[in-house]
Amino acid sequence: MKTSQPEFDVAVVGGGPAGLMAADAAAAAGAKVAVFDAMPSVGRKFLLAGKGGLNLTHSELLPAFLGRFEAAQPALAPLINDYPPDQLRAFAQSLGIDTFVGSSGRVFPQDMKSAPMLRRWLQRLRAQGVSFFVRHRWLGFEKNALQFAHGDAITQVTARATVLALGGASWPQLGSDGRWVETLSAAGVAVTPLAPANCGFECEWSEFFKTHFAGEPLKAVAARCKGDESMPKPRRGEFIVTESGVEGSLVYALSSRLRRALQARGVATLELDLLPDTELAALNRALAIQAGKRSVAEQLRRGAAITGVKAALLREVLPKSTLANPALLAAAIKALPVTLHATRPIAEAISTAGGVAFAGLDEQLMLSGHPGIFCAGEMLDWEAPTGGYLLSACFATGQRAGAAAAVWAAKAAPKKRSRKAKPPAGGNDSTDLAP
Ligand SMILES: Cc1cc2nc3c(=O)[nH]c(=O)nc-3n(C[C@H](O)[C@H](O)[C@H](O)COP(=O)(O)OP(=O)(O)OC[C@H]3O[C@@H](n4cnc5c(N)ncnc54)[C@H](O)[C@@H]3O)c2cc1C
Repeated sequence: MKTSQPEFDVAVVGGGPAGLMAADAAAAAGAKVAVFDAMPSVGRKFLLAGKGGLNLTHSELLPAFLGRFEAAQPALAPLINDYPPDQLRAFAQSLGIDTFVGSSGRVFPQDMKSAPMLRRWLQRLRAQGVSFFVRHRWLGFEKNALQFAHGDAITQVTARATVLALGGASWPQLGSDGRWVETLSAAGVAVTPLAPANCGFECEWSEFFKTHFAGEPLKAVAARCKGDESMPKPRRGEFIVTESGVEGSLVYALSSRLRRALQARGVATLELDLLPDTELAALNRALAIQAGKRSVAEQLRRGAAITGVKAALLREVLPKSTLANPALLAAAIKALPVTLHATRPIAEAISTAGGVAFAGLDEQLMLSGHPGIFCAGEMLDWEAPTGGYLLSACFATGQRAGAAAAVWAAKAAPKKRSRKAKPPAGGNDSTDLAP
């Protein structure tokens, strides 16, 4: 066992957007900061997020923006009010990254990418004196020290304050694997079980349907979670049929409701309106005219312009008696029940629900019963749809935790102290951090 006793004002564990923002805020407050990450480089999920176009935040008015966090809104609102989307855009601008508002109100960097922003951010953090220690897997607390596995060695690090920003459990190959849940739970921290958010769902498709239609998009449809009366009207959008079920933006948008229905009842029903722009009465008339003389496929094509995957889905889901009855068929086109049996695994999800319960944190995001230990980012118990809300909350919570950790560290510091700390084994802030 190899140990060393460096001294940092603030240790940030986890180098995702939340941890980097915590480091930024703490360093800006004058703290001596070190960032530790299990992976060979930081910000891997942030880089992945940039592959499909980095949706940094959203331009809608703040009350609507805050409403996206549903049950976590009371806890997150003060933090996002203090670090609102405009401030996040200004932060990007301070790194030389211009942003623009897309047609949906989503905010993106001009080049849609995250790598340039991350690169410049890391350069600035290093210039602010932040040290980086990659390949340092946090194992837990050992008395007053943080314990890390680094290669074959175990390293202990002391800091006056710590920010844990360990992420959720989706895409574990990028570093956030949720293993911290066991460690923190064992330390008495209340953690809501992690669950997939913005995720796909499993259906029991027939062999024929999945062979012929997996990968097909269902476009211009509307959907809701059947039985969820809190949703005033179906949401429009599109999604994809997969080998195992359904995924895509419309399904992700409903995923928290569908997941809760699954948890409560064991199955959930995705109710689809395949023709949201057509009234039921008009559809009824159109199908009635075609009835009797033609096949169901022809009736659907001529009466409702339904072909391809939409027609196949009707045949997949509905009994023959419904397909043969124009009134029942019309009603089913407007409210087609697709039964979901499970969420896809959390490893595939865009984000994670559950995490460190806000009830166990003070307003500075410090853990009750663990003075000087703060938490930030996706590891906290909140969820939000895609649209830039995820990163916005990560940045806002990172900002709060980092600033508060710096204040805590300053109070804990003796009036005069040596800054000649020995770095832990393997520490570096050079090339292998480059995105
Ligand atoms: C495909 C995809 C696309 C996305 N696109 C967007 C988007 O466009 N807009 C948006 O708002 N959000 C998007 N997200 C979500 C967003 O990337 C995350 O919400 C965000 O990265 C979470 O930030 P975080 O800092 O809390 O955690 P993470 O980014 O997960 O970082 C956590 C860090 O902690 C480290 N770590 C974990 N455990 C340990 C340990 N024991 N010891 C040391 N280090 C540890 C990890 O290595 C990791 O670097 C996307 C996610 C995915 C998967």
